[in-house]
Amino acid sequence: MSNPLLICQGIPPFADIQADHVQPAITQLLEELETELGELETQLNQTDQITWEDLVPPLEKISDRIGWSWGVIEHLLSVKNSEALRTAHSQVQPAVVKFFNRFSQSQPIYQAYKKLQQSEEWHSLEPAQQRIITSAIRDAELSGVGLTGTAKERFNQIQTELAELSTTFANHLMDATKAFSLTLYHPEEIAGLPPSLLNLAAQNARLHGEPDATPQDGPWCITLDFPSYVPFMQHSQRQDLREKLYRAFVSRASSGALDNSPLIENILSLRQEKAQLLGFNTYAELSLARKMAGKVEAVAQLLEELRQVSYPAAQRELAEVQQFAQIDTLHHWDIAFWSERLRESKFQFTAEELRPYFPLPQVLEGLFGLLKRLFGITVIPADGQAPVWHEDVRYFQILNERSEIIASFFLDPYSRPHEKRGGAWMNDCQGRAKQPWGIRLPVAYLVCNQTPPVDGKPSLMTFGEVTTLFHEFGHGLQHMLTQVDYAGAAGINNVEWDAVELPSQFMENWCYERKTLMGMARHYETGEPLPESYYQKLLSARNFMSGSAMLRQLHFALVDMELHHRYQPNAGSSAEAVRRQIAQTTMVMPPLPEDKFLCSFSHIFAGGYAAGYYSYKWAEVLSADAFSAFEEVGLEDEAKVIEVGRKYRDTILALGGSRHPLEVFKQFRGREPSSKPLLRHSGLLNEAA
Ligand SMILES: [Zn+2]
Repeated sequence: MSNPLLICQGIPPFADIQADHVQPAITQLLEELETELGELETQLNQTDQITWEDLVPPLEKISDRIGWSWGVIEHLLSVKNSEALRTAHSQVQPAVVKFFNRFSQSQPIYQAYKKLQQSEEWHSLEPAQQRIITSAIRDAELSGVGLTGTAKERFNQIQTELAELSTTFANHLMDATKAFSLTLYHPEEIAGLPPSLLNLAAQNARLHGEPDATPQDGPWCITLDFPSYVPFMQHSQRQDLREKLYRAFVSRASSGALDNSPLIENILSLRQEKAQLLGFNTYAELSLARKMAGKVEAVAQLLEELRQVSYPAAQRELAEVQQFAQIDTLHHWDIAFWSERLRESKFQFTAEELRPYFPLPQVLEGLFGLLKRLFGITVIPADGQAPVWHEDVRYFQILNERSEIIASFFLDPYSRPHEKRGGAWMNDCQGRAKQPWGIRLPVAYLVCNQTPPVDGKPSLMTFGEVTTLFHEFGHGLQHMLTQVDYAGAAGINNVEWDAVELPSQFMENWCYERKTLMGMARHYETGEPLPESYYQKLLSARNFMSGSAMLRQLHFALVDMELHHRYQPNAGSSAEAVRRQIAQTTMVMPPLPEDKFLCSFSHIFAGGYAAGYYSYKWAEVLSADAFSAFEEVGLEDEAKVIEVGRKYRDTILALGGSRHPLEVFKQFRGREPSSKPLLRHSGLLNEAA
């Protein structure tokens, strides 16, 4: 039988794919594609007048084939993991990465894009086509393709050094986190801890040389990992132990052999040099060159707008916690604990209590009903019409107003810890694109990790699981409702990453809208609707301590921006000093002397968020403002809601990466984004303002 990983088109025959198909398929495919790419490069080198047809479709043909096979393997790795598949994947991964690099750094392709940009044909190309080409040139340049000679050598050297420094940073942090643990032997030391944490703590103790540890009798081992640290700080009644843990947490990786401080200065200085080699003044300018915000000033302005409102709000919230706690001096290690007690006293309900009101089939009905209402699309089950990778996976089709199929998706809802990665995500199985035979329709993977059905009951969801499903569906809608026929800008492709979370967070807002929520929240046995008191609690819980939460994010975003823009590494000051300076206006309680938060800020020093941490808030502003377009016309006015819904579908969801996201946003909203709706939704601005 032929190798199913070499089909390279259509919906993958999941059931036929085995781990031992991976190596032969990828080896053969890369060999063929190397040859094809080489031939294309030669041809491009010899042509002076490049046309779109000469360049883009042949490139897409190559990237489509490897994208298809590699996409299937990566998908199965995340939803149907096995030892054999992992091994096969890691065997071929370096070759695949190398091929993708060769592709994105090809000098002949880069030159061909530039020739196309200067050709006569350029002016007759559609905006989507022009933007695909402009983005391709920009991305190639930002990866150093335009450099030559010593500049190129230095650039490559910096890239290698930066990769190593990031890895070391992450390893230090991991080792420092692991190096600390607090083992508790006496029942009075676990006062207040919830059963889930005691389970985890006993399990940790068994790993730390206490083979007989049990959740009931201990010993219990508390670590600095989030699932252990966060609930301990929220629930432990022992102030002395909270203090111990807090001090250890904020000083991770800041001394001795695992000290990240020198790495930070090094990373910042290399990034600055890299930016300058590419013709930018600062690394922040380089980062923003491929983002919607575009300019440092635009980011600074937004962050300051939000800061001015959230700072006094955070002060008020802290005062409220202090008053509630009735202690004279509130310390850092008291805040999480007393905030939780305050939350409990204000909204007495647990996530568990709401589950019976959110059985999955009903939630899907509610979600699909909303999609019909807003966007005029119909979702129909099509189970059995496409192969699946697990019997719980469902397959659906989407029909437009003329009952034509326009897209389809897989939904893999339940947690399967033995073979499925945690979290929730949307991925593309296939993107919309013009093909010689017609239009290829988009297919999405929607993956969640919610509680599976037990004892004959349907899967009963927490409200958090409901909002997660809506969130991922928002990404899915941008992928599936795109009207762009050029693969490079269809759906989520070519969307600036500070704008990518707009459609997803937009959908979350509907979980709080009365009609949508009350329409789907009914008790799975009695059919009784969600009691009004719960609805009110959900609304107020959404904004609990929202000023403090926002201010914390702003602190991170402002520090990140400052370090990558104005700060000069190795010039007498230090990154830590910059952070403390910014803390004066972004923290209501000054950090402790040993608080070296930067040494654990892996988002920007070991992840992809450098000069980009602001993106979280940026996208939230966009999504809140988009939702407020519906609030403005009145959520009770059905005709208006439908009208705005169609407009949203035809702009934000339809245009994908074919236009600059600001242009798309303005087409929908009729103006530039405003931060007011986010502040209002967070309870930080009253209606009159
Ligand atoms: Zn998302």
